[in-house]
Amino acid sequence: MCSKILLYIIKMPQNIVLFGPPGSGKGTQATRIAQRYSLVHLSTGDILRKEVANQTELGKVAFALMQEGKLVPDEIVIGMVGNKIAEYDARQGFVFDGFPRTVLQAKALDELLSQAGKSITCVISLEVAKEELIHRLLLRKGIEGREDDNQQTIENRLEEYHQKTLPVSEYYKSQNKLYTIDGNGEIETISERISNLIDKIISN
Ligand code: AMP
Repeated sequence: MCSKILLYIIKMPQNIVLFGPPGSGKGTQATRIAQRYSLVHLSTGDILRKEVANQTELGKVAFALMQEGKLVPDEIVIGMVGNKIAEYDARQGFVFDGFPRTVLQAKALDELLSQAGKSITCVISLEVAKEELIHRLLLRKGIEGREDDNQQTIENRLEEYHQKTLPVSEYYKSQNKLYTIDGNGEIETISERISNLIDKIISN
């Protein structure tokens, strides 16, 4: 009993990366994971959109790239994530949504977490067919009115994903941290798949 309590107290915080192409449901599922496991939801897309809305210097640099569906430079997003991680103490865990998107970002995240005495628990990759991704993003444009959810930008974002982001999954695979989940179906069903997986990983 005593050792169980001790284990609980010294248990490392969970740090989960939600991985997948635009439209795979990372934002929706990350919000749910954050609530269920009391983690900070860290979305680089949301941070960048706030910078754009506030017309900061960073926002001005990011705006044109986001409009085109191109990635914002690594050093900018790594700096943003570093600041966010530094805001919290050692006991706090994170769910990363939309970060890392390049291998350089993944390496930087390992470094930032290790400096904070933390590490990645697991990387959950949401698998969704391309036609469904496009359908979801166009649907989202009607609901949320995101300017980068138009046909041309969507194509660019998917291209960026295949060229620069997909190799990140290999990086985590080589660390035995990559898990795949079927991202098709109802939000609730996908949520259950994800939490069943996380519960299993945490209990091991
Ligand atoms: P998201 O909301 O995650 O789909 O991100 C929207 C846009 O923000 C992307 O298309 C990129 O232009 C930019 N962005 C978000 N996260 C990153 C990142 N980790 N690295 C580079 N650019 C990013």
